[in-house]
Amino acid sequence: MHRPGPRARLHQLIPHSFRARITMTVVALVAGILLAVSAIVINRLDAYFEEQEEGALSARALEVGSIVAVVAAPASAAEPVIQAGNTLSAAVAERISSDSFLGFLANAVAKADVTIEIGGATQTAEGDVIVTAAPGGTTTAPLTAPPEARESRETLRAIATFGPVRSPLALPWGVRVTLANPYTTRVYTLATVTTLLAVTALGALLAALVMGALIAGRFTRPLRRLSEATRRFGGGDLANRVPAAEIGAAYTEVTDLARQFNLMASRLEESVGLVRRDRDRSREFLADVSHELRTPIAALRMNTELLQGQAGEEATTRREFLESSRVQLERLDWLAQNLLELSKLESGLLALDLRPDDLRTTVESAVEQADASARRRGVDLAMDLPESPLRVRHDPQRIGQVVGNLVGNALKFTPRGGRVRVTLRPHRDGAQLEVADTGVGIDAAELPHIFERFYRGSSANEARSSGSGLGLAIVKSIVDMHAGRINVESRVGQGSTFRVVLVRDPRGVAAPAASPSIPPAEASVASGLDDVANSS
Ligand code: ADP
Repeated sequence: MHRPGPRARLHQLIPHSFRARITMTVVALVAGILLAVSAIVINRLDAYFEEQEEGALSARALEVGSIVAVVAAPASAAEPVIQAGNTLSAAVAERISSDSFLGFLANAVAKADVTIEIGGATQTAEGDVIVTAAPGGTTTAPLTAPPEARESRETLRAIATFGPVRSPLALPWGVRVTLANPYTTRVYTLATVTTLLAVTALGALLAALVMGALIAGRFTRPLRRLSEATRRFGGGDLANRVPAAEIGAAYTEVTDLARQFNLMASRLEESVGLVRRDRDRSREFLADVSHELRTPIAALRMNTELLQGQAGEEATTRREFLESSRVQLERLDWLAQNLLELSKLESGLLALDLRPDDLRTTVESAVEQADASARRRGVDLAMDLPESPLRVRHDPQRIGQVVGNLVGNALKFTPRGGRVRVTLRPHRDGAQLEVADTGVGIDAAELPHIFERFYRGSSANEARSSGSGLGLAIVKSIVDMHAGRINVESRVGQGSTFRVVLVRDPRGVAAPAASPSIPPAEASVASGLDDVANSS
C-alpha cells in the first residue's frame, strides 16, 4: 500500500482553512518576535551581569590586598617585611598564614578562593606594580563557607596588586591578590529573568492565539457566509443572498465581493424567473391554442357526420350545415392567421419597417377600410386628424393593423346608433391615438385581462363570440415593438376609450421587441387615464 511521505504527512497536519492559517501566522509572528526579543534581552543581561560581577570581584580583591598589606605592615622599622634576597620576614609570614585570618579573607571579605603573594615590588614606567612572590610568601585560602540563598559558584578571576610599600630601611614590597571562583547571584538572577520572560512570552502567545483566532474569525466570517450563500445558490436556492448586515461588517474587498455576488444572484434569479415564466406562458399558450382549435374542429366534425347521415339528403338542411361549416372554416383561418401573426410578433423575428411618415395617412387609410363595416352596423365612425403632418417613425402596416383592430373592436362592441371616434393629436413624446366608442364598455374586473391572449369578455353576446381573443394581444405587441404604450378607460354601458402613445423615434428607446411573450396585462393596463409605462 502507498504510504504518504514525510512531506505529505506534514502537509496533512497543517490546517487548510483560511481562518486557521491566519491564526497560525499571527501566532508564529508573535512567537518569532518574542523569541528574538528574549534572546537579545537574555544575552545582553548575561553580559551586563558578568561585567558587574567582575567589577565587584576586582573591588573585593583590592580590599583583600589592602587588608593583607595592613596586617603585613611591620610594627617597627626594625622588622622589614622583605629583606635582601626577597626573603619574607618570618613574623609576617606567620601573621598572614594564620588559618583564622585566611578563613576570614576567603569567606567574609572575598567570597572566593584567595591566593596571596607577598614579596619585593617594583613599579613600571606605566605605573603597573610587579610583585615577585618571596619564597614562602604565597598562601592560598579556599572558599569554604556555604553559599547564601541565590548564590552559586562562578568561574571568574580577579587580580589586584598593592604596593610598592617603601620604608627607609627596608626594600619596597607589595601584595598580589588573586580571587577565583566567587559566589555570585548572576545565574540565579538570569534564571529568574528568563523564567519571567518565558511566562510573559507564553501569556503573549496565548493572547496572540486568541486575538489571532478572533481577527481571523472576523475576517473570514463574511467569506464563510459568502461561500455558504454560493453553495446554497448552487443547490438551487436562487433567493439566497448574503445578508446586508454581514456585508456592511466585512472588509472592503469582501464587501465588494459579497455585493457582486448578490447582484449576480439577483440577475440570475431574474433571468431564471423570466425563462420560467416564459416556459409557463408557452405551455399556457399551447393549451389555449389547442382549446381554441377544438371548438371549430368539433363543429366541423359534427357537421360532416350529420351530412353523411340523413340530414345530408335534404337540400335545405345540407345548405345550412355547409354554411355553418364555411363559417367554422373561416374562423379557423382567422385563428391561424392571428396565431401566426402573434407568434411572429412575440418571437421578435419580425423586423419593423420603420419610416418617418405622416401618421395621419396611416390612420386615415385604416379607418377608411372600416367604413363599410361601420355603415353595415349602423355605427357612426368619425375621424379627427391634425391639420399639419404628424411625423412619427413607425411601421405603417403594423400601426394600420393597430388602428384596424381597435376600430374593429369598437365597432363590434357598439350597438346600432352608437358612435366611434378616432382622434390623432401630437403628444409630448410623439403622437397620441385615441379610439373612443359609445359601446357596451368593459367591466372593471375584466380590464386588466383584455390584453391577454385568448381573453374574451364574459358578458356573452354575439359580437364577443366572433372574436379570437388575440386582437388586443397583437395590438399590445405592436405598440411594445414601437416602444409605445397603451391604456384603456372604460365604463360599462357608456363606452371605452383606448389610447396609444407613440414615441417620435422608437430606435432610440429600448423596445422590448425581442421579448418572447406578452407581459402580464395587469402591468400594462390602468383603469384610469394615466399613461402606462411600457412593459419591461
Ligand atoms: P376579440 O378578438 O375577441 O375582440 P380582443 O383581444 O380584441 O379579442 O379583445 C379582448 C376582449 O376585450 C373582448 O372580448 C372584449 O371583451 C374586450 N374589448 C375589446 N375592445 C372592446 C371595446 N371597444 N368595447 C368593449 N369591450 C372590448
